[in-house]
Amino acid sequence: QFPFGRRLPCDIYWHGVSFHDNDIFSGQVNKFPGMTEMVRKITLSRAVRTMQDLFPLEYNFYPRSWILPEEFPLFVDEVRMMKDSDPSWKPTFIVKPDGGCQGDGIYLIKDPSDIRLTGSIQSRPAVVQEYICKPLLVDKLKFDIRLYVLLKSLEPLEIYIAKDGLSRFCTEPYQEPTLKNLHQVFMHLTNYSLNIHSGNFIHSDNVNTGSKRTFSSILCRLSSRGADVKKLWSDIISLVIKTIIALTPELKVYYQSDIPAGKPGPTCFQILGFDILLMKNLKPMLLEVNANPSMRIEHEQELSPGVFENVPSPVDEEVKVAVIRDTLRLVDPQKKKRKDVQYNYVLWYRCQTLEEASEAKEEAREAGDGGERGGSRSPEAGLPSLCLKQVFPKYARQFSYLRLVDRVAALFIRFLGVKGTTKLGPTGFRTFIRNCKLSNSNFSMASVDILYIDITRRWNSMGIDHKESGMCLQAFVEAFFCLAQKKYKSLPLHEQVASLIDFCEYHLAALDEKRLVCGRG
Ligand code: ADP
Repeated sequence: QFPFGRRLPCDIYWHGVSFHDNDIFSGQVNKFPGMTEMVRKITLSRAVRTMQDLFPLEYNFYPRSWILPEEFPLFVDEVRMMKDSDPSWKPTFIVKPDGGCQGDGIYLIKDPSDIRLTGSIQSRPAVVQEYICKPLLVDKLKFDIRLYVLLKSLEPLEIYIAKDGLSRFCTEPYQEPTLKNLHQVFMHLTNYSLNIHSGNFIHSDNVNTGSKRTFSSILCRLSSRGADVKKLWSDIISLVIKTIIALTPELKVYYQSDIPAGKPGPTCFQILGFDILLMKNLKPMLLEVNANPSMRIEHEQELSPGVFENVPSPVDEEVKVAVIRDTLRLVDPQKKKRKDVQYNYVLWYRCQTLEEASEAKEEAREAGDGGERGGSRSPEAGLPSLCLKQVFPKYARQFSYLRLVDRVAALFIRFLGVKGTTKLGPTGFRTFIRNCKLSNSNFSMASVDILYIDITRRWNSMGIDHKESGMCLQAFVEAFFCLAQKKYKSLPLHEQVASLIDFCEYHLAALDEKRLVCGRG
């Protein structure tokens, strides 16, 4: 707890819900600005859709989704078209209210006309998604996986995944959806908060049984059935990295707005909860990302009617304690200090006489390295090995080609101008076009203004954020894709976008060079 009246800054701030303090000027905060907004159902679906437009095959781990109310007509049309082209297709859809959690307000439908339009759709935006009808079953039950992921840093990107997670089970045997069973939540929804109310829920002290188990126990079972568990892990890692790559562009916009570069501010890290469903063929599908995953290691038990007591939950404890412990080890400010001392030692070694260098070496040794090497003097020597496994930058090379929107966001941020904003004004957009030399006889400045007004108006009418006026990042990305398609006809979209980014970066680098020379002059 941060005692009221405390003046001294802390080295780690652990907020309960979201990043909300604007008067922290140093240290590390356990939440990123904007993360809660970014993982809402609609925003996440939009961010993934942008990536699906660029890389459809790489982003096929997220069910096809439509945003309500604005995409309702599109949803109806697309479903009709797909049914026409394949009359044997008998889909089911799941409707999820935006900002909902714990299964709140979720229902299944067989036909677009079953959406509960009466009043609620306008007042409560939602995502409607293709329902995965053939999930992997264990003991005839549907289950999902909660995996903990540490986003340790945004720039440079650093991601860790916990080696173990939780598997949360339904409490009624699964049947593929029919009109008769659509409403049976204990059969179709894996939420702990719902299934706990079923008479069939089993609290177990054993991590291998019950309605909540460790993910590793499932993997053991799958492996004994001959499943390729290594491939499954590698698919999960890839899903996590790709999802975070979809979120980073907008997170960077929030970040520079709350913690402007060059001003004193904290650095951020965040533990995220990834909800993943395994399909029958073991393909992992992303259901959602939680910015504030529950870290409870107890559950309520009804001792006698109406009398409840909190009792320890060994399954939660096994997974969650390790996640928090390792997060603190990884962001440990003492460790950073020790690293700095070591770095200084290297510098000294390069510049000083041998005698001075050996003094510095001694200093570094005294500080202890505390890293994964875990030498005998390390304060971590007695702790279990890390459960959080670094996956980025470890696998950065495999995924760097996907980070196109990140580069578009860097252009956007450059032209935001006034610090602290998240939206681009018309002048900023014009300057972007001019500095990147995108206007020509076929694309006049008047057309630039029309493009800006059209796209900005449409995005603002979706009513996401009325606080500021101007063009949000998503609108800028749409405008950028339009420009890329215009300029590089006939290439696939991701190549058009990559070419336009190269073109813009080239002209901006030339401009910076010119300004530098002029400045020197
Ligand atoms: P909430 O935030 O309310 O928990 P989720 O998106 O996690 O919303 O959905 C709740 C549950 O519904 C999931 O845990 C999962 O069991 C089920 N579910 C969600 N989306 C799908 C889907 N596309 N296909 C099959 N089941 C799904």
